[in-house]
Amino acid sequence: MTVPKSHPRYLSLITRDRLVEGWKNGLVVTQGLIAHGRGEAFDYLLGEVTVDEARKAERTAACRMLLAERLVISVNGNVGALVPGEVAELSRILECPVEVNIFHRTEERVSRLAALLREHGCYEVLGEEPDAKLEGLEHARALCSRKGIFSSDVVLVPLEDGDRCQALKAAGKDVITIDLNPLSRTSKTADITIVDNLIRAMPNLISEVKDLKEDLKAEKISRDDMERTVSDFSNDDNIRSVLRSISERFSSSDEK
Ligand code: ATP
Repeated sequence: MTVPKSHPRYLSLITRDRLVEGWKNGLVVTQGLIAHGRGEAFDYLLGEVTVDEARKAERTAACRMLLAERLVISVNGNVGALVPGEVAELSRILECPVEVNIFHRTEERVSRLAALLREHGCYEVLGEEPDAKLEGLEHARALCSRKGIFSSDVVLVPLEDGDRCQALKAAGKDVITIDLNPLSRTSKTADITIVDNLIRAMPNLISEVKDLKEDLKAEKISRDDMERTVSDFSNDDNIRSVLRSISERFSSSDEK
């Protein structure tokens, strides 16, 4: 069925179609569809817009990624199905590898995702031949690439589960995540949590990084300014503020 653009839930329906397509193509697992449902519910509570707190987190994340020495973008099935072009563009402008890192690992799914990311022109694609392990996780979920996640200082993991986020933190990484659920373990554990839909957050991150790069070149800002932006950011405060915004939306709709 073709969804008409005038449909009030056009973007949400198109996103679901993309995930179902990814599921049919063997990129997305069935559990990924359920996880998306949880995300959608939170997006509804946010009004399906990028809230101010998410904008702030996106700006801070862009600064942190530009300051990183060994940045890696970690990609799972849902991310590959929803925003492969954006992942590729971000990796090119930041000149960083993209690592396929999936919860329900099969070699076939890893190869499909890696091929898709290459097709979209990622700067470098890793994850097909994992040669290292993250401590504290059971076998398949611990696997990673020595050249990528294992030796990174900063990891952008759009959509992560709480255990792996904690394992990345325990391994000394700075973790940036995108998660619509401000209450998830991932959201609370990460250093910078962007409470926004992946499909809005990725284009926002790309434009923030581009703007910052131009401003750096034009000496409108310095690396010190970016470091200050990162150190002034409190993930706990930002999440608390998102939760307040959600509850304010509820109380104002009560009054109608
Ligand atoms: P945790 O283990 O961190 O407590 P969880 O068990 O919900 O959380 P998963 O099910 O592994 O974690 O991951 C799904 C998460 O991704 C959910 O928190 C959901 O809100 C979020 N999510 C799903 N789809 C999107 C999306 N399109 N954009 C942003 N976040 C999303």
